[in-house]
Amino acid sequence: MSYQVNEKGYYGNFGGAFIPEMLYPNVEELREKYLDIMYEKSFQNELKGLLRDYVGRPSPLYYAERLSEHYNTKIYLKREDLNHTGAHKINNTLGQILLAKRLGKTRIIAETGAGQHGVATATVCALMGLTCIVYMGEVDMERQAPNVARMKLLGAKVIPATSGSRTLKDATNEAIRDWINNPVDTYYIIGSVVGPHPYPDMVARFQSVISEEIKKQLKEKTGNENPDYVIACVGGGSNAAGAFYHYLDNKDVKLIAAEAAGKGIESGHSAATSVLGKPGIIHGSKTLLMQTEDGQIIEPYSISAGLDYPGVGPQHAHLFESGRAQFGSITDEEALKAAYLLCKLEGIIPALESAHALAYLEKLNAKKEDVIVINLSGRGDKDLATYIKFNEQAQ
Ligand SMILES: *Cc1c(COP(=O)(O)O)cnc(C)c1O
Repeated sequence: MSYQVNEKGYYGNFGGAFIPEMLYPNVEELREKYLDIMYEKSFQNELKGLLRDYVGRPSPLYYAERLSEHYNTKIYLKREDLNHTGAHKINNTLGQILLAKRLGKTRIIAETGAGQHGVATATVCALMGLTCIVYMGEVDMERQAPNVARMKLLGAKVIPATSGSRTLKDATNEAIRDWINNPVDTYYIIGSVVGPHPYPDMVARFQSVISEEIKKQLKEKTGNENPDYVIACVGGGSNAAGAFYHYLDNKDVKLIAAEAAGKGIESGHSAATSVLGKPGIIHGSKTLLMQTEDGQIIEPYSISAGLDYPGVGPQHAHLFESGRAQFGSITDEEALKAAYLLCKLEGIIPALESAHALAYLEKLNAKKEDVIVINLSGRGDKDLATYIKFNEQAQ
């Protein structure tokens, strides 16, 4: 079985490009050109140089000795938290902006929920001197004021989406509308392995640097490039797609995706798409989606803003359906506990999203000789207020 996209843009039963006709020329231009541009030598040289000198790659693969002792196994952390801007998202925005430049685009648009992707996009636009417009739900702009301030400092224009629930899906609608109206000079940077083909494949390829590095680093450290497990959290699924990428065809490596169960799968406040989702169409692709019986999207919930998404990318829907990856749901409380544990045992404050991957260690029943790689997708600075609030409640 193949876990990569086919020539029609599908992963098994999922994927495709379900877009308004007016958007067709933009997406088609990208589909025709993305692979040629991405694998051109000068593009690769520029991308690699910036990943090294601007982002700080390779990110370390760190043997977490005290955490390993605690779980009586061997745990390595892939330190995406040490990247410039504090997470893996910059790997993708940097790749896409170089592609946009090669396509001759001068104006960049993006959607953002919690603001992390907006910040990563505003960052690379400043770096390249391109105009940056970020659509963000009005409600999210209030909830994530520091990220709005960051984007503005970086020179981006943040436009509130004022329709519907005034959150991520409304911001996405606004971005699509903008792209339809500005097809010639504008490029749309999507923030995860979601959206119409070729976006999921393109974003996965830009994030695949994560597993490329893991293989090399693990081989250096243990003599074997293959761990027993790779664990990553899944919102849309880009950090997981990158951490899994070079292991997809090696069944000896078990792949685990940690989703946000929020207040509990049955609570009505969750984002556990693999359990609660049904096939449907969101953001231009067919995937697993949390929806009502008549197909309305159910508002997701998670304590971590980055996992608060009602679907998963089409590749993850396929990995779930085919059984190649195992999906586990982690509640807010379990994620918080895992985060506090990492702080105390390793001196690392993880992003709340990444804490969902860490929490899966409680459910794994790992053996002493197992080698586990956890993708630490981001750092926890942005989550301090939440950590302080719940830590005080617990004392
Ligand atoms: C945005 C974000 C995520 C979730 O996005 P994916 O596309 O699923 O990776 C996870 N971790 C961090 C730190 C994030 O900022």
